[in-house]
Amino acid sequence: MKSIASELAYFLRGRARQNLKVLALYCAFLVVMTLGYASVFRYLMLHLEGREFSFIAGIYWTLTVMTTLGFGDITFHTDPGYIFAAVVTISGVLFLLIILPFGMISLFLAPWIENRLRYKPTLSLPEGTRDHIIIFGMDPVIRSLIPKLVSHQIPFVLVTPDYAEAVRLEEEGFRVVFGRPTDAQVLRAIRADAARYIIANLTDPENVNICLTLRGFSKTPVVTLLDEAEHQELLLLAGASQVIPLKKILGRYLATRTTTQGAMAHVLDSFGKLQIAEFPVHGTPFVNLSLAQACIRQQTGLSVIGIWERGELKAASSETILGENSLVVLAGTSQQLDALEQITGEQACDDLIFILGHGRIGCAAAGFLDRKAVPFILVDRQENPHCKEHIVVEGDATGRNLLKNAGIDAGKGLIVTTNDDSTNIFLTLTGRRTNPHIRIVSRANREENVEQLYAAGADFVVSNASVGANILFNVIESKESIFLTEGINVFRCPLPPKLAGRTIAGSEIRLRSGCSVVAIEPVDGSEVLVSPEPETVLTQGMGLILIGSSRSEETFHQYFS
Ligand code: ADP
Ligand code: ZN
Repeated sequence: MKSIASELAYFLRGRARQNLKVLALYCAFLVVMTLGYASVFRYLMLHLEGREFSFIAGIYWTLTVMTTLGFGDITFHTDPGYIFAAVVTISGVLFLLIILPFGMISLFLAPWIENRLRYKPTLSLPEGTRDHIIIFGMDPVIRSLIPKLVSHQIPFVLVTPDYAEAVRLEEEGFRVVFGRPTDAQVLRAIRADAARYIIANLTDPENVNICLTLRGFSKTPVVTLLDEAEHQELLLLAGASQVIPLKKILGRYLATRTTTQGAMAHVLDSFGKLQIAEFPVHGTPFVNLSLAQACIRQQTGLSVIGIWERGELKAASSETILGENSLVVLAGTSQQLDALEQITGEQACDDLIFILGHGRIGCAAAGFLDRKAVPFILVDRQENPHCKEHIVVEGDATGRNLLKNAGIDAGKGLIVTTNDDSTNIFLTLTGRRTNPHIRIVSRANREENVEQLYAAGADFVVSNASVGANILFNVIESKESIFLTEGINVFRCPLPPKLAGRTIAGSEIRLRSGCSVVAIEPVDGSEVLVSPEPETVLTQGMGLILIGSSRSEETFHQYFS
């Protein structure tokens, strides 16, 4: 069934699709011709022979003559009639019996057969292939990763045991090998031992199998994305170098963006002592103050490196107003973050968070809120077989009044995390309409739906694919980098020698690359200097921590390193 579908799909792609249009035009021409002949037939019969026929009879006569069936039940008895019948017969032979079959063969059948004969799946990579990335399992995460690999000119190969998928991916222009990933022969044929990295992105059991098979003959690092948290140890035992619990990470991401209770600031990641954290302004004394009035820096020593507004990271100036829904990105030490907690943590917090969808991501979000003692209500239309811990309101979240009856009016946060983007868009819209002040964080399963989720009223959209792709890319590149959002990273880099001795202002880092210096790590390993003054002198051996878009980061490396 699947193969019939993929064969039929062939006719909807590329040149075949163009040819389909030509065929449609030709058919339209045949219809017009038949109707025309039928009208002439009726006219001649009436005026030459005084016989009247219906239009249907006209079509019937035309078709029997054109197809050379010629039943002979309706015939002309005058010379002009004979001549007309001859013209119809000849055009029938020409257009129906010669041009049509010939066109069908040359436009469709021949290219299709040629395509089938021509495509011989690649079964191995040439000897000497090295430093390539091998990818098992195509999905939206890999689709988001590929442009990054391409732009960094990192060679990669996709491996699939599905013939139709191999054809399709090759038609898209990717380098594809057809073969079973768990077969040692195949792993050798794709030069797994000389590869730079292997990305095992299949089910957990298949990934375990790949690791075990590979470890029989090669030490190439394998990174896998984890489905079920309890499989992590098995994968490591089987020889995976890195296991990324993506669903858990995403759940935590979603949860921290809806609440302020518990630990105020959510630490995204750290570079040694320097931590990069986010904190929602909602529920703190900073609401509706400007950054200058909030005095965060003076009170805590933390520096603000940007502010999220509807998913966009904006540079912050002293006049920037901290709105109820703003999320502030901070850099500083853990002591400084503690100081922030002292100021804001005493707030009575009445957060009530709704989580729609109790899959692995929803469950991880619930687990996170649970640990922070934030009350939440979970809604799912079915039981999660892997979780016995959480109490769930059972029902279809899109159902009329379900959210209202569950008390969404009183909610402070809404996490929308079903596995279907249309449902997520619908639920975001419903949530926003029912409670205009609720903070909505939605999950996008596919990159192309991020915009629609924002349009539906989400305050924050977390895209599975871009988070996954960024983590994978940082692993492959062994980059010390923190993903803030699609395109914006905080990264670390040793001071390029040609900048030694200059001041930050004199280094022209921002001017030349677009990156900004978030912090400096002094040579002697003492405390990091966050948001250093422009007059600070850069010395040999220092570490720089910078923020910038992927492009700025590249420009920085090209220009300075
Ligand atoms: P993941 O593990 O990636 O979070 P899942 O497919 O396991 O994804 O989970 C999605 C969850 O969302 C499922 O438990 C499913 O029942 C739930 N879900 C999907 N649509 C609805 C809906 N309309 N109402 C309630 N729950 C839904
Ligand atoms: Zn759960």
